[in-house]
Amino acid sequence: MYRTHTCGELRPENIGKEVILAGWVQRVRDLGAMSFIDLRDRYGITQLVADENTSEEVKKTLEELGREFVVQVTGTVRERSSRNKNIPTGDIEIEISGLKILSPSAVPPFTIQDDTDGGDDLRMKYRYLDLRRNAVRKNLELRAQMAHAVRSFLTANDFIETETPVLIKSTPEGARDFVVPSRMNPGEFYALPQSPQIFKQLLMVAGFDKYFQIVKCFRDEDLRADRQPEFTQIDCEMSFVEQEDVLNTFEGLTKYAFKEVLNVEVDNFPRMPYTTAMEKYGSDKPDIRFEMLLNDLTEQAKGKGFVVFDSAEYIGGVCAKGCAGYSRKQTDELTNWVKRPQIGAKGLVYVKYNEDGSLKSSVDKFYSPEDLKAWAEKLQAEPGDLMLILSGEKQPTINALGELRLEMGNRLGLRKKGTFKPLWVIDFPLLEWDEETKRFFAMHHPFTSPKPEDISLLDSEPGKVRANAYDLVINGVEIGGGSVRIFDSELQAKMFDILGFTPEQAKAQFGFLMNAFKYGAPPHAGIAFGFDRLVSLFAGLDSIRDVIAFPKNNAGRDVMNDSPAPVSKEQLDELHLQLVKKIK
Ligand code: ASP
Repeated sequence: MYRTHTCGELRPENIGKEVILAGWVQRVRDLGAMSFIDLRDRYGITQLVADENTSEEVKKTLEELGREFVVQVTGTVRERSSRNKNIPTGDIEIEISGLKILSPSAVPPFTIQDDTDGGDDLRMKYRYLDLRRNAVRKNLELRAQMAHAVRSFLTANDFIETETPVLIKSTPEGARDFVVPSRMNPGEFYALPQSPQIFKQLLMVAGFDKYFQIVKCFRDEDLRADRQPEFTQIDCEMSFVEQEDVLNTFEGLTKYAFKEVLNVEVDNFPRMPYTTAMEKYGSDKPDIRFEMLLNDLTEQAKGKGFVVFDSAEYIGGVCAKGCAGYSRKQTDELTNWVKRPQIGAKGLVYVKYNEDGSLKSSVDKFYSPEDLKAWAEKLQAEPGDLMLILSGEKQPTINALGELRLEMGNRLGLRKKGTFKPLWVIDFPLLEWDEETKRFFAMHHPFTSPKPEDISLLDSEPGKVRANAYDLVINGVEIGGGSVRIFDSELQAKMFDILGFTPEQAKAQFGFLMNAFKYGAPPHAGIAFGFDRLVSLFAGLDSIRDVIAFPKNNAGRDVMNDSPAPVSKEQLDELHLQLVKKIK
């Protein structure tokens, strides 16, 4: 061993002890007669000191030291004259008797401390240096702790951790596949799993009963703060269960993780139908840390001569508590905010319900105080509140209102980081109509079971069929989703048909699953949590990048190892691939 203790370990009770430490030089302070070094490792920082009693040899080595040198130091623990209350080792220091440079360091491109001077790109390029910083490493430690909690809970509940292959045949989860050419099978490709969906279902046919895996999944999608091309799922499947059993088990897992890792007790998770989430929160991932529900004003606001409203399919609003005093500047700012292309509203109507009971709106010309009172009633507004109203086509307007609600929640400080409000969103539609291709897509995936009571609608009104599908949502973030599966080959074949697969296509792509179902498939259901999202939520972060050791940037690049990168002509030849130059 290169050390007797770590840099975070020594305390006053060790005073007088001879110790050996090893770590990185955080900084050197040369005060002439005395020199101080902050020595850092994963566990903390310990102060080393050299003074008039220090040997010439040590002093010489000291002069060579720079930031991030790796050194081994021998010395005696002594009490510090000026104690540092901010660090756990702040009561002691090490009087250096021997100092050895184990590895010198070039000048690092940014300072490796909590408040670094390094910009985002630079820190990504030198990610291994960024990971030396407490703030970043802490997130990865939390991640490890959470993975441990998940494993202990699921293992204790009889789940078998099973690996599934990474080179597979495509599994549809609604994204593009990453593909891998096969050298041994010229002209053929593997796909990287978008999830282990089919394999976990096969494990149920295999009688595993309860499966889980903390597993890498790959989806070739445009990236956002909460998306990476490769990400990690806590993936699970259970046999002989119904929806309620899955919800209860994974509510249990989530509560266990909150308690174990954050020591937070969360309430029982409410269950909200998808339609309620959309109508009242304007989102299928409602943030229920605050109210400010959406309300439909179509009936109240139509037919009074205001063309914008009269021609709208839907008029809806939210009530921002205590905001009646908003200035013209503030309401203009909100109007511009809803008009941004990401939100897409044409304009914003507001009504101030003043403290004195009077009502002042941006559409006073068309609506009497009584009209506005009726709106206030519907929006449950009281004196002092501000009503914000959008109109237009129903779905986009509801979505825009949902965004406006979140924005107001942010502005009013109602979305507090340390508060956690999980819920289950249930009863998702089975199918989603795509106007462009004029066909239905599976809202979750093609293996999701319709609600038995809705099966009769499959032929007549497929768009109305609800699924036994559910999402776990925490604080407006979709943490996970799953469904009860179809385990009957006939119903599965029907589903493929509705989704536009010919029987031949279905056989070519999913034949092995359909075959497996012929040999006794148990009823089964499952779920997958986005592990990166869960960790970033626990860590109070907004981006999943910060909880991944080596993430990719928004263009899907790893700027540290500069990938993706071209491959050699020989590699291409071996794979029987030829690059076709793009014609501009
Ligand atoms: N495979 C699904 C997903 O990745 C989860 C599930 O249905 O279990 O979203």
